[in-house]
Amino acid sequence: MELKKNQCVIDGIPVVSLAEKYGSPLYIYESARMIRQYKQITEAFKSTRVKINYACKALTNINVLKLFKQLGSGLDAVSIQEVILGLKAGFEPQDILYTPNCVSIEEIEEAVELGVRINIDNIAILEEFGHKYSSKVPVCIRINPHIMAGAHHKISTGHIDSKFGISIYQMPHVHRIVETNNMKVEGIHMHSGSDILDIEVFLRATEIMFDTAKEFKELEYVDLGSGFKVSYRIDDVSTDVEALGEHLSARFNQFCEEYGKELILIFEPGKYLVSQAGYFVARVNVIKQTTSTVFAGLDTGMNHFIRPMFYDAYHEVLNISKPTGKTRIYTVVGYICETDTFGWNRKITEAAEGDYLLFKNAGAYCYAMSSNYNSRFRPSEVMVHEGKDYLIRKREDMEDLLRNQVEMENL
Ligand SMILES: *Cc1c(COP(=O)(O)O)cnc(C)c1O
Repeated sequence: MELKKNQCVIDGIPVVSLAEKYGSPLYIYESARMIRQYKQITEAFKSTRVKINYACKALTNINVLKLFKQLGSGLDAVSIQEVILGLKAGFEPQDILYTPNCVSIEEIEEAVELGVRINIDNIAILEEFGHKYSSKVPVCIRINPHIMAGAHHKISTGHIDSKFGISIYQMPHVHRIVETNNMKVEGIHMHSGSDILDIEVFLRATEIMFDTAKEFKELEYVDLGSGFKVSYRIDDVSTDVEALGEHLSARFNQFCEEYGKELILIFEPGKYLVSQAGYFVARVNVIKQTTSTVFAGLDTGMNHFIRPMFYDAYHEVLNISKPTGKTRIYTVVGYICETDTFGWNRKITEAAEGDYLLFKNAGAYCYAMSSNYNSRFRPSEVMVHEGKDYLIRKREDMEDLLRNQVEMENL
């Protein structure tokens, strides 16, 4: 998005015109930005055999999946439904890695039936899997390297108390299971959580992974998960992908030489690929002056955009109806009947009822986490692609709210 002739435009299209055309609230995605993010990573790692698996839980619209498929991406799926969506979007089964946590063995068997790659993060499941499939179905093993990454405890996954992965201290047990059941371990995996600020910490975790990897003799890939951080605030830092690419590619190539085989280096970013490509637009319903603050109350709520209330996420907000001019301080809130704040004390251009506000970084974990709380319809989604806008999901209506409700006859 950029400011042109005092208008916020996405790929040449004024954002206000999209809100008027499709209604408010509205999610807008910019394919050019997704493509740029994808290519930035592949470019940074071009001196090694890198593969990107888009972690689709961030944003599962089928058009987004198809876009990444076109770019050559694979898919990281965390539920059987995401696996099926990926197949529907045209991904080959071997390009989907299914990485579940705390699912039943039945769901894992279903994924095996669909032919996708399986990532296992639990010793008991590994054993059950080995009894059932032996060497017939290769597996990937999710490892917990016990490093602390991630700024917020709710999104950090690689530490000692985490429920994810099999501890590096349990590797002897893993090897026993693998050998006893004649299993083929084709990959090892870690996903250390979302916000890697310090490349050094990440590189330390990868050393643990390489140490672990060399004990498995039939590997085809090493999957280092995600951890790519994007900036949410103006002065925020993001992962230095170029520096990471340079250091890690060289180190990975060296590891492959020691290992005696050219392995594939996999990353599975979600947020990094789609966060900044997404915008959430809502209209100001009321301006409410209280004794302590001025509220801008929107025609949406945390049911549509939960990250600020859920884990204190910060999303930049601007008044796109008046991109420039005099500013004031607002607390931006939603219409849900409990505390429902998108941003405290935000400086934005003076807002009037009817103005459209825009939240940045709304591509990842925003629509994907939306709900019908307060019996509200989920918003529509629009993709701006090659200078044109496309409706990629309709706004819900009453029929959607009632679709699965079954009315009892005696009430
Ligand atoms: C959520 C998730 C990702 C993506 O994380 P981001 O922070 O969005 O990049 C990658 N791998 C796994 C296994 C995940 O669960």
